[in-house]
Amino acid sequence: MGMYSGEGATSNYTGTYGVARDVTERKVAEETINFQAYHDLLTKLPNRALLRDRLSMAINQAKRDDEKLAVMFLDLDRFKNINDSLGHMIGDELLQQVSIRLKECIRAGDTLARFGGDEFTLLLPKLKNGRRDASKLAEKITNALKQPFYVEGHELYVSTSIGIALYPNDGMQIDSLIKHADVAMYHVKGQGKNGYQFYSNEMNVPYIEKLSLDTGIHRALDNNEFNLVYQPQINLRTGEIVGVEALLRWEHPEHGSISPSEFIPFAEESGLIVDIGYWVIKNACAELSRWRLAGLPEIRISINISARQLMEDGIVSNIIEIMKDYDLPGRCIELEITENAIMSDMDSIIRKLRELSEHDITIAIDDFGTGYSSLSYLHKLPIQTLKIDRTFLKESRINKGDNTIINTIVAMAKGLGLNVIAEGVESQAQLEYLREIECSEAQGFLFGKPLPPDVISQLLIQEPSATPGSQSSSSKSTHWHH
Ligand code: C2E
Ligand code: MG
Ligand code: MG
Repeated sequence: MGMYSGEGATSNYTGTYGVARDVTERKVAEETINFQAYHDLLTKLPNRALLRDRLSMAINQAKRDDEKLAVMFLDLDRFKNINDSLGHMIGDELLQQVSIRLKECIRAGDTLARFGGDEFTLLLPKLKNGRRDASKLAEKITNALKQPFYVEGHELYVSTSIGIALYPNDGMQIDSLIKHADVAMYHVKGQGKNGYQFYSNEMNVPYIEKLSLDTGIHRALDNNEFNLVYQPQINLRTGEIVGVEALLRWEHPEHGSISPSEFIPFAEESGLIVDIGYWVIKNACAELSRWRLAGLPEIRISINISARQLMEDGIVSNIIEIMKDYDLPGRCIELEITENAIMSDMDSIIRKLRELSEHDITIAIDDFGTGYSSLSYLHKLPIQTLKIDRTFLKESRINKGDNTIINTIVAMAKGLGLNVIAEGVESQAQLEYLREIECSEAQGFLFGKPLPPDVISQLLIQEPSATPGSQSSSSKSTHWHH
């Protein structure tokens, strides 16, 4: 033994203690490598490979025991916004916090994996009522994400789109289950995000189209496939057209006209909405300036701004520059944004809205009542207009006397000194009701569909002249007096 022990031992020979340490180190190293091979380093969640492993086991077990299981595909909505505008450090920290909150929603035997980027996958084995259990969890997750996240002084709101595929109905193999959950997730995105859907067979076609949609949107700007139509907004007291909302139309060379609600969600995900948005602002302003130069009565133009656009650093200065290029006064420009857009990063967005207000540009909250609908923050915002979502004005509701929401919104707007526009007015009965509760403005098919610019200028020519300062009296007849 003497040779092996003591000072004389060469470095070739390590004592037993050393061997043990060596083994431990190797073990730790192996474990680390193992962990790294099967986990996502940022969130420490299982990765794609481990999820596939577990899914394969779960499928076998489900087959054997005649059980159900669900695969959920989660994609955070507009996460790219946060990464692009606040930086990757904050994005990463947010992803970690989100993964912790998601983990709190699941059971012990479930697997939550990060698929990369802002995508998570959930495996729910051994479900008693496949559909019901899965929707319960999806709702739980949606609710859990409603509370804000706090990252380095930013209050951030996150929502997610969830697609669900069930074994055995929607697939019996790993790949078909994952793919179908992904397809269902894209459907949620396409329908305005923030929610969940189960896969169904009819969903496959739009999925293929989705891929060509992205490249299509890219081309559309270069090829001039976009145009704007304008929908009149009527002052309910005077009956005059006081504004128009610019609405985007896409004439696809093969698919024909594609509705903005179908492609804007995808343009937001890919970030293309920023370029499209500037195109819209420029063209709407150009149109308004043509109407003004032609001596038509002064009206306001309302432009929809997506959450993604609002996060852009240069958005405010760019809008102001466009406004000046076309020699427009700020009071003629209203920007329509949704509640959710404000909530995504409230402080920085309020700052931007203030700056716009300093240039007399007004801000309207679009689809009011459908978002986070926390009324408490309203007085903090530099806004001038509420646009009541058309679901609250449904005829069936009005006829049934189910008017609480719309009454409340109008009363509240008055209390706060805000202008209020009712959207989607289609019938005389709705109009009468709105007049009764003294809603200030309305917009809808009853007054006019979204129209090409030359039709709008014709309408404006027929308007009784609304020279600034001279309010039209009730004796003046206008189109919209019924
Ligand atoms: P929105 O801003 O709430 O626009 C109102 C939508 O309601 C328009 O749909 C309009 O055509 C429709 N509408 C108006 N009156 C009536 C009515 O009486 N009855 C019914 N049933 N519908 C009516 P559209 O043009 O399909 O636009 C859908 C959404 O797409 C818009 O909702 C807006 O969120 C978005 N969008 C449109 N243009 C743009 C744009 O330039 N930029 C951005 N970011 N979003 C846009
Ligand atoms: Mg709008
Ligand atoms: Mg709306």
